[in-house]
Amino acid sequence: AVASEELATVIGLEVHVQLETDTKIFCGCSTEPSEEPNTNTCPVCLGLPGALPVVNEAAVEAAVKVGKAIDADIPEETTFHRKNYYYPDLPKNFQITQYDAPICADGELAFSVEGERRTVAISRAHLEEDPGSLQHKGGSIDTADYTLVNYNRAGTPLMEIVTEPDFRSPGEVRAFLAKLEEVLEYLGVFDSTRDGSLRVDANLSLVDAAEVGEGGAVDREVLEAANRTEVKNISSHRGAEKALAYEETRQKNAVKRGRAVEQ
Ligand code: ADP
Ligand code: MG
Ligand code: ZN
Repeated sequence: AVASEELATVIGLEVHVQLETDTKIFCGCSTEPSEEPNTNTCPVCLGLPGALPVVNEAAVEAAVKVGKAIDADIPEETTFHRKNYYYPDLPKNFQITQYDAPICADGELAFSVEGERRTVAISRAHLEEDPGSLQHKGGSIDTADYTLVNYNRAGTPLMEIVTEPDFRSPGEVRAFLAKLEEVLEYLGVFDSTRDGSLRVDANLSLVDAAEVGEGGAVDREVLEAANRTEVKNISSHRGAEKALAYEETRQKNAVKRGRAVEQ
């Protein structure tokens, strides 16, 4: 869809952050990391028959704090849904998450990058439960001899923060993530030293540079028409910047060679 030589980069983020609570989001199991696998578990977070989830007030409170900090709307009512999919780290075969009525909507976060002030819109930020974790033995995911599964993490409160596609460079993404972490730590709801406490999915597309207006604005139709790709499960700021710089180059090269980027 891109004809001219001048291309502009468009990036949007889905950031998953673990919220620091003593217990899990729908049961009383501890969220303290444990040396022993599968010890912080109960019928609720293992999804045993008849188990009933009860939402943790502390997780809701933490999410509301985040919402206030990003200047979001926090509705009187919020709804959880079951998102069904099979994956070994998901003992229930569904994840409790939010969809049509998230706890926070329409926020924003301002940050500085190379002396310039930028503001990125946050479409939504919702609560959900973290799945368990997998440990591949004797290789990586595709070469391992076998895989161990640990459900201690299953049910840890997660907040998914979804931005509008307002980023114009991988460097902006890195600066945003640093700012976001700073805000979350200030609120006392997040521990950046905890392994895997922040994970990013990043979408990137290229648009005609002529479509980029004042302050980086791009029309919705242009954004929807652009074929984007998603890089998933990035675990650091620097990792996000590097992965997106790679993807930006890969897409530019594809376009230069007359190949379309497949969504
Ligand atoms: P989906 O329903 O496929 O998840 P969303 O509208 O929720 O799509 O958007 C998912 C992510 O993709 C958001 O972070 C958003 O900012 C980003 N995104 C949307 N359009 C573009 C685009 N043209 N280029 C890059 N990222 C985009
Ligand atoms: Mg999405
Ligand atoms: Zn439990």
